[in-house]
Amino acid sequence: MSLQIKFWGVRGSLPSAPPPIDWTYHIEGVLRNFFSSGYRDPSQISKYIQGIEVPLLGGYGAATTCVEINSPKSQLIVDGGSGIRNLSERIMTGTTGRAKGPFHIFMTHFHWDHVIGLPFFTPHFIPGCEVHYYAVQPELESLIRGIFKQPYFPVPFEALKAKIVFHVLEPRKPYKIDDLTITPYKLDHPDPCWGLKVESGGKAYAHCVDTEGTRVTREELGEDLPLYQDIDLMYFDAQYTLPELAEKANWGHSAAQVGLDIAIREGIKKVIFAHHDPGARIEQVLELKRQTREYYESRSRAHKNDILWDFAHEGLEITI
Ligand SMILES: [Zn+2]
Ligand SMILES: [Zn+2]
Repeated sequence: MSLQIKFWGVRGSLPSAPPPIDWTYHIEGVLRNFFSSGYRDPSQISKYIQGIEVPLLGGYGAATTCVEINSPKSQLIVDGGSGIRNLSERIMTGTTGRAKGPFHIFMTHFHWDHVIGLPFFTPHFIPGCEVHYYAVQPELESLIRGIFKQPYFPVPFEALKAKIVFHVLEPRKPYKIDDLTITPYKLDHPDPCWGLKVESGGKAYAHCVDTEGTRVTREELGEDLPLYQDIDLMYFDAQYTLPELAEKANWGHSAAQVGLDIAIREGIKKVIFAHHDPGARIEQVLELKRQTREYYESRSRAHKNDILWDFAHEGLEITI
């Protein structure tokens, strides 16, 4: 039994990619590196590319938050950022055997970057499809209806062909979707935002985006502490460097070091950092990664748990 997790959108705040001129310089660097690595022949290009990590060539991606979690029997989607469009395209190819759903979408909160892709989730428009929405926010139904509304979107909610069902969840109470158990816990974010613990077959995933991580100690986390306990994979907000985090207090986003502190204390096995700043280029995320490595190594003398961690790129897939 395992959980398969795919990150369809890892950018924060606004879908954004480097402008074409930046890509031009980036490609120049890649080509220079090809030759300086000793390669000369076009037949060696594939070997060269396969030896490089995806984000070093292709970047971290433009799409905003959307995560797909698959268990042997079920599928859960967390948030409808612009990343949900590519997920929708894959569903519509029919290769998943789930073209009619039911689809289950948990909404952490309703900031633009988490809802902007929802009108492009094609199952909404297909007769016979079922789309179930889940959130802690009691206004769930009116908020989703408000997205499918003229003049923001040409197709009104009433014209959607799928059956849409709304489920308002109680905070910190487990809820079953087939073989998945989902439990919402509060994150540190304006408006508020609810993280999610997803459990199945003895594996657990913690979704902690968007959060500022202002509560770190067990006492501060209080009734939300279980979100960080017995976790195989945690997805954590790391939009900022530590100095930026101090400058941008109350903006609702965190730094990788904050997530690592929690992960080290709670024995979390793997951490993936995301919600990359809309202005962050490849080099800036790599710099965050360098600072995180430095911090992790400085802390590793004081702790025994080895943690696997990395920064997410669009399309990353992890099985736990
Ligand atoms: Zn966000
Ligand atoms: Zn937000």
